[in-house]
Amino acid sequence: MRALQLTAWKSAPELREVPQPDPGPGQVLIRVGAAGACHSDLHLIHDFEPGLLPYDLPFTLGHENAGWVEAVGPGVEGLEIGAPVAVYGPWGCGRCWRCQQGNENYCERAAEIGAAGGGLGRDGGMAPYMLVPNARLLVPLGDLDPVQAAPLTDAGLTPYHAIKRSLHLLGAGSTAVVIGAGGLGHLAVQILRAITGARIIVVDLKEEARQLALDSGADHAVPSDDSAAGVVRDLTRGVGADVALDFVGIDATIALAASVCRPLGHATVVGIGGGSFNFSFFSLPYEVSLATTYWGSRPELFELLELARRGHIAAHIEQTPLDQAPAAYERLHAGEVRGRAVIVP
Ligand SMILES: [Zn+2]
Ligand SMILES: [Zn+2]
Repeated sequence: MRALQLTAWKSAPELREVPQPDPGPGQVLIRVGAAGACHSDLHLIHDFEPGLLPYDLPFTLGHENAGWVEAVGPGVEGLEIGAPVAVYGPWGCGRCWRCQQGNENYCERAAEIGAAGGGLGRDGGMAPYMLVPNARLLVPLGDLDPVQAAPLTDAGLTPYHAIKRSLHLLGAGSTAVVIGAGGLGHLAVQILRAITGARIIVVDLKEEARQLALDSGADHAVPSDDSAAGVVRDLTRGVGADVALDFVGIDATIALAASVCRPLGHATVVGIGGGSFNFSFFSLPYEVSLATTYWGSRPELFELLELARRGHIAAHIEQTPLDQAPAAYERLHAGEVRGRAVIVP
């Protein structure tokens, strides 16, 4: 079968012929319905010197996956062949405290395991088939289309987790600021709309992204320039935001997230833009918590997919066949994708 593989660090991924995998004991073979193309793949492709990540090359890209159960290995019970499933992406040890709580994104044995999941050191979903090491990593889709579900496993789950940790701050009358209305940001707006009472202010450089944010349910969409913090102040009658979610993560956006929060607020950096922030006693309003998040938990993926099944959230997607996946990454790199690019084998 053809698979889009990363074969060398700091070089473009290649479409290669690889053997179709067979499920071993405990494993499940998935026929891939769709795999999302993520901004973090661009970091994976462009930014890392050899030896920096604990991943062995080559491996197949694609860490946002959904499809159908094709075959199961010995010892796997209770999974129906042909059942539509989403793949929970961060693959932990499954046994440590965090994994038992469903937070495999924060597995205590992550350093020892090395690879973070399919498409992140192990073979992912940019191929007709992928192996999943354990049935616990599969979430049933019911009547949800795998093409729609795939991007939700990361572009949806990551903002969902970031919002859930600040849910107590987002009641009626609160304000959430979303910085960056791309693949994750436009879903963050829909999730905020679905599960919180917050007024939603989106900040983005691009007119098209601001329009997508408004179409996704944002109350206000503000151009990302020097005046953005002042506009947020004005929209909140000088009070500031309860929660600011930064889906970009460069110096300027982290500074913006920190500055628009009111005392006791949360500034959460989700985007891996490589920015930094100069922390001092006076660089944040009092009791503002500045945190990063990584992905989300297994129970949260169940919750999120239920929101999608009930029609509360839907990713805006651009579908591309697998043989044109390299071009989709180039469009993503150039900032030309509206919503999420999804690769269909
Ligand atoms: Zn990702
Ligand atoms: Zn673990």
